[in-house]
Amino acid sequence: MYHHLLRDASFWVFLFTVDQGLADDAKARGCSCGGRLHCANYPRKPRGGGTDLPPCYGHRLSFCCERDGCRKRTTPPSVRFLGRKVYLGAVVVLVAAMRHGPSPRRVRELTQLFDTDRRTIARWCIFWREHFPQTAFWKLVRGRFVPSLAVADLPLALLKAFLHRADSREDWQRLLEFLSPITITGGLAIEGMF
Ligand SMILES: [Zn+2]
Repeated sequence: MYHHLLRDASFWVFLFTVDQGLADDAKARGCSCGGRLHCANYPRKPRGGGTDLPPCYGHRLSFCCERDGCRKRTTPPSVRFLGRKVYLGAVVVLVAAMRHGPSPRRVRELTQLFDTDRRTIARWCIFWREHFPQTAFWKLVRGRFVPSLAVADLPLALLKAFLHRADSREDWQRLLEFLSPITITGGLAIEGMF
């Protein structure tokens, strides 16, 4: 089953190391003005990861340009945090997917497993099926899937496309890295809207 890994603290530690790699890349590139980047993490209180979530989940990795007059913020993509959503990105994908398909998990079971509630789960399902398919990101990447993924089957179709082995960290890593462009500012912009 897909959800066992998300109950395992070592999985969250693993995803943090992936985020550290993404942050290292951003730091190496530096600011667009040519300035160096300094650590300026955002405090976070993510939900859905259980009670033994590692302390490194208390912040999202982010940087600030060191140059006076610039000080521009650079927040690298993340496999942990889905934009401003309070819940961990993997939970937002998985719970919405588990509500879907031929034998959906009951809401009560999901709320207990992932410390969420009926309204939040309903919002995620709307997000995946109504907002996400309209984003510039999805319009750019959807052609990669052969056969194509039906919008009505999101996000379960994404889960099935990426997760081939039960409880594979690497499969989750590939899925979350694929989605990581939507985790930065403007990443969920709808095509044609500015
Ligand atoms: Zn700068």
